[in-house]
Amino acid sequence: MSGISAPRGTKDILPGEVEKWQYMEDIVRRVCAGYGYREIRTPLFEHTELFQRGIGEATDIVEKEMYTFTDRGGRSITLRPEGTAPVVRAYLEHKLYGSAQPVRLFYLGPMFRYERPQAGRYRQFHQFGVEALGSQDPLMDTETILVALTIFEELGLENLHIELNSMGCPQCRPRYREGLKDYLKGRLDGLCSVCQTRYELNPVRILDCKEDACRKELEGVPEIGDYLCPECRGHFELVQRYLTSLGRSFSLNPRLVRGLDYYTKTVFEVIAPGMGAQNAVAGGGRYDGLAEECGGRETPAVGFAAGMERLLLALESQGKELPLPRELDAFVAVVGDSARTMGLKVAVALRQRGFKAAMETEGRSLRAQLKAADRLLVKHVVIIGEEELGRSAAIIRNMEDGGQQEVPLEQLLEAPERLLLQKISD
Ligand code: ATP
Ligand code: MG
Repeated sequence: MSGISAPRGTKDILPGEVEKWQYMEDIVRRVCAGYGYREIRTPLFEHTELFQRGIGEATDIVEKEMYTFTDRGGRSITLRPEGTAPVVRAYLEHKLYGSAQPVRLFYLGPMFRYERPQAGRYRQFHQFGVEALGSQDPLMDTETILVALTIFEELGLENLHIELNSMGCPQCRPRYREGLKDYLKGRLDGLCSVCQTRYELNPVRILDCKEDACRKELEGVPEIGDYLCPECRGHFELVQRYLTSLGRSFSLNPRLVRGLDYYTKTVFEVIAPGMGAQNAVAGGGRYDGLAEECGGRETPAVGFAAGMERLLLALESQGKELPLPRELDAFVAVVGDSARTMGLKVAVALRQRGFKAAMETEGRSLRAQLKAADRLLVKHVVIIGEEELGRSAAIIRNMEDGGQQEVPLEQLLEAPERLLLQKISD
């Protein structure tokens, strides 16, 4: 290999793979549009303060995963580790609260986190997500969950599992936090070192620790459900009722807390079984406090983000192939110098008629050209050789079933749709 490779934790998405991404992106765009969500594109980097808001509780992302650097103007810049804070910033900055509420947005693109690379965990990865801003209605929480599930189902994923919890609000969460700290106070020595520091900074995150020692200490831990205020409880019950009314099953997981600190009320994760530790394909929830934390007006909002690499891994682990279309309608194979000129004309004519067409450029043998065309997943090969040219004809070969027929060049130039759309073998 040559000297320079892609940085650790990043991946090239090559042709052959990229079609899967496009297929997935098309589904995301179509389903989101079907629910009335519109695309938003925010910068790949932001002022560091947007993610490190100071008043928030400590999170994995802020503590150790951000790609932060000082630019030439001395500003602290961070490559976006997630999409929600940038969307909220844009909503406030462009006063989208002035338009019809709620504002339904979706995004899709790369995120950056300095993590230890492993299966399903990268330093540059891709997410799509939706954010519904300006509504506190539990119907909205349900809707975002449905958007996620619809996309996953359209992709062909099966047996996905929804986990739900409520994180409470500034009224009730502090009481839970205290209850939790009381419970953990005598058990600190049994916790892992990370959780010992979480105890002061963000004790709720201890619930989520995967270490055996911590799991053991948590066996009798108080549950947030018992601490929810009437409003949070009512909200959470409605979300569950709406999901149930649609026949959607879910399980309540009182230990589910999201890594990001801005969540309030509903939180959820979508789990794809059989994927080891990196089995969460999407996570989301309500974040009624985030806009204010970003220095804006109070804006109730809810959304989710899904990891696209993990979705592809989940599809693979379920043995699901995405239905990838043959990419090119035609490959123009040419043998001999005068055939090259005619081939060029034919290729241009095909493209003008809306066909995707490539042509031979290397002067290879016909056999080699057919092999190359097969690798390109071409539907038809148009063969122009000296002999056919002498008869003002070409051969059309259907690469899906191997059928061939000779056709007049004139027809190929003037009305190719009749030749390429019909089934050639019959
Ligand atoms: P995890 O617990 O796996 O670290 P998270 O809670 O940090 O996930 P979120 O911030 O909620 O994840 O991001 C939403 C989704 O993005 C995750 O469910 C996952 O599918 C995906 N994701 C998060 N981090 C990575 C990463 N480093 N590489 C690939 N996908 C990721
Ligand atoms: Mg993480």
